[in-house]
Amino acid sequence: MCSVGDSFGLELEGGMEPHEYLCNHCGKSFKGIGAGQRCPKCHSTDVKCTE
Ligand SMILES: [Zn+2]
Repeated sequence: MCSVGDSFGLELEGGMEPHEYLCNHCGKSFKGIGAGQRCPKCHSTDVKCTE
């Protein structure tokens, strides 16, 4: 395993990186940060994280 610096992966652990979400209502996929995401297309809160 290549160890090119320990801090590389740790910088993303702030909980602020965007995640991919998928709307269960209209099927729109979008990126969002944090909980309580809402679909930008139909404004449904029935979404799931796909990552
Ligand atoms: Zn939607």
